[in-house]
Amino acid sequence: MGALRRDPARTFAVLYLDLDRFKLVNDSAGHEVGDQLLCAVARRVRKALRPTDFFARIGGDEFAAIVYDVDRAEQAQAVTRRIHGVLESPFRLGELRLYTSTSIGIVLGDATRAPDQHLRQADTAMYSAKQGGAGANRVYRDGLRMEARGRLHLESDLHRAVEEEAFELHYQPIIDLRTAQLRGFEALIRWEHPERGWISPCEFIPIAEETGLIRPIGQWVLGAACRAAASWSTIHERAPTVSINVSPREFREPGLPDRVAAVLDETGLDPSRLLIEITEGCMIDEEATIALLDDLKDLGIRLAVDDFGTGYSSLSYLSRLPLDMLKIDHTFVAALGTGHHDETVVRAIVTLAHELEMSVVAEGIETPAQLGFLSRQGCELGQGYLIGRPQALTSLADLPKHLEGVSAL
Ligand code: C2E
Ligand code: MG
Ligand code: MG
Repeated sequence: MGALRRDPARTFAVLYLDLDRFKLVNDSAGHEVGDQLLCAVARRVRKALRPTDFFARIGGDEFAAIVYDVDRAEQAQAVTRRIHGVLESPFRLGELRLYTSTSIGIVLGDATRAPDQHLRQADTAMYSAKQGGAGANRVYRDGLRMEARGRLHLESDLHRAVEEEAFELHYQPIIDLRTAQLRGFEALIRWEHPERGWISPCEFIPIAEETGLIRPIGQWVLGAACRAAASWSTIHERAPTVSINVSPREFREPGLPDRVAAVLDETGLDPSRLLIEITEGCMIDEEATIALLDDLKDLGIRLAVDDFGTGYSSLSYLSRLPLDMLKIDHTFVAALGTGHHDETVVRAIVTLAHELEMSVVAEGIETPAQLGFLSRQGCELGQGYLIGRPQALTSLADLPKHLEGVSAL
């Protein structure tokens, strides 16, 4: 980092990069592949920078860059956009095609601060960026470190919550948009923190992923959701399905198909009534993903891609996977009516799903106009606040409450 001292008059920003899910690559493909990936990533990032910028690996899957002649956050963010851009296409390593992304912390240079302080602050910002999900950036500001400390507390509380099974599942109805009939429910986890009250899964699932707590949490969700679904009675001539969310680390933990098989056996749930939702972030290694999905399909369950359109799966890849359903991310639904491109995106996803012989579910339907548009495009299933909010559901006798919104269709 001696480079920092060379020209104190020159403005700069320090970027701290940490690859997302790198441990998964190492664990599933081996260290040798992991090392090759690091080199390949470094080569691409180097190309996204100017020759005069400084770039180095600082350990593990972490890199730092000093980009010069940058004095505003937007300029630094333009550089990070280039970095994310060069990492978008898959890495071909031997037989493997791997997808990766990086989280980036940014700190603007300040000649009065020590060089290692820049690095620490950029690291703090990177840590905070990771919490926002893979492939994100965060610019350092005072207070971020305190938030990181708050997160440490949350981590230890989450350990306790796992021991005490202090979670609940809420269920959000999924309906057939053509007939307004109930088809199933998505199980969504809820955690009531003793002091902070309800905490969003968007906040604690990433912590669970990082700490490995996702394994016992996921196991609890699977058991609870299948037990509940097995108790539901038939409605509109069929028993509702239950969808559960499986996050990337959970997906990669060895033995997922065996665990699912054991729970199906134990609860007696008909496998065709269970749907597993994975995100594009689960599919980092094509061959391993296909093998795992095949094993899951062999159990007779169904598979959906959640938040479709927000990740980076290539279309040829998608067509090779044994998937049953695409879920249109709620951001596309929310954008409907704000410009004709948004309609084009939704229409394209519906067409793509049907061409690949998958069904399609729209998430986050909040208005009758959105519902009308989706249904006209041939999107057959939907969920959202308009139809029903996620809520505790002890018996299907609670159902009429859930479908209030639909009676207005
Ligand atoms: P997701 O699977 O995409 O779930 C949909 C999210 O959208 C839920 O947020 C749901 O409450 C919310 N939502 C439903 N309808 C509407 C609507 O009309 N408008 C808006 N704005 N939002 C709507 P929630 O429950 O906070 O969950 C957030 C994310 O956390 C989920 O996104 C999923 O990725 C993750 N998650 C939830 N439960 C679990 C779980 O049991 N295991 C794992 N691994 N992840 C979970
Ligand atoms: Mg979901
Ligand atoms: Mg979603």
